[in-house]
Amino acid sequence: MSKSTDIAELFNQYVMHTYAPTATLTSGSGCKVRDPDGKTYLDFTSGIAVHNVGHCHPKVVKAVQDQVATLGHCSNLFYNVGQALLAQKLSKLSLNGKCFFCNSGAEANEAMIKLARLWGSAKGKYEIITMQNSFHGRTLATIAATGQAKVQKGFDPLPIGFAFAEFNNLDSVKAAVNERTVAVMVEAVQGEGGVMPADEEFMVGVRKLCDDKGLLMLCDEVQCGMGRTGKWFGWQHYPLKPDAFTLAKSLADGIPMGALVASPAVSDVFQPGHHASTFGGNPISCAAALAVLEVIEEEALLKHAEEVGKLFVEGLSVFVDKYKQVLEIRGKGLMIGMVVEGAAKEIVATCQDMGLLCCPAGEHVVRLLPPMNVKDSDLEEALEMIGDALEQHYGEEEES
Ligand SMILES: *Cc1c(COP(=O)(O)O)cnc(C)c1O
Repeated sequence: MSKSTDIAELFNQYVMHTYAPTATLTSGSGCKVRDPDGKTYLDFTSGIAVHNVGHCHPKVVKAVQDQVATLGHCSNLFYNVGQALLAQKLSKLSLNGKCFFCNSGAEANEAMIKLARLWGSAKGKYEIITMQNSFHGRTLATIAATGQAKVQKGFDPLPIGFAFAEFNNLDSVKAAVNERTVAVMVEAVQGEGGVMPADEEFMVGVRKLCDDKGLLMLCDEVQCGMGRTGKWFGWQHYPLKPDAFTLAKSLADGIPMGALVASPAVSDVFQPGHHASTFGGNPISCAAALAVLEVIEEEALLKHAEEVGKLFVEGLSVFVDKYKQVLEIRGKGLMIGMVVEGAAKEIVATCQDMGLLCCPAGEHVVRLLPPMNVKDSDLEEALEMIGDALEQHYGEEEES
């Protein structure tokens, strides 16, 4: 069981086909990963925005090893110090309120949806306006909240209580408000929806609308949070604060963890019995998350992500000039999308053959999510491979 073909065969026989894996990975370090046949890849997926500090960062590895050998789990019947410290840290970096911990992005969004409903329940308000092309997870409530028909198809009846508006169109959000509306939920940069940043005018408008109508503004920061965009949280690119937001993916660097972070005004909505999670805020995931936060601070990775992100966008923009099939480079920090005319997954596949892992976001966007501590030399290597891949797909047509 050491060759990637053997592993794939076993996997396909016994693991449900919810995914279509394209390579086998057995080890990683920084932004490099290896397969069992000895091939090395530059990983610009970062496990889909999970390894913001790179694979196997020694500080995170040490924190997890120490914690698992000290107290692995203690349930939420008892206090654990890591959870308190992590909640303090996240709150101080953001809304100065309180946190609830769980195990994934979908679960964090479920918690945020429940919080909004409980908050609105006395007034009979429950409906949450979400955006077309959004992505909020794969549980029943979060697919109902997701503005993409393809994730909902076949799973009727879905929970009610969601209305959709057009992203970056404030009038459309205003038109969706009615007497049942309790909240507006938005990603500062839509990830799965195609690496699409929210306009400042839109975000500020949503905040004002929520203030005027007594609604909660909720941000899903599961993909764009934790420094990826060059700020701790994507909403910090705009002059506003949401009432609550969610984190997951990169929060604990691959140890499964989600969080709901709330402003003081809604921090005490949940009382004992309202919500819970057996593993949520477990000592191991908290130790990992605390280490991640320390690494980002110590290595000044927010600034680095912003600077390197700019360099990367500059490098990629050359391809917009060179190939008419490369339409646009967009994103924030190191959450970058290259919009192409044809199928993004074909470019992604060619990059993989060459030794660069990236992933599609929707049909036409090649999503590039290098770790925040990516080196200039890795960027150059990636740009070369992307250039070669584009040349292979679009080069000849250009000459003719
Ligand atoms: C990935 C993602 C989720 C779902 O997170 P899971 O951990 O897969 O449940 C939710 N929202 C956004 C914006 C995401 O990118």
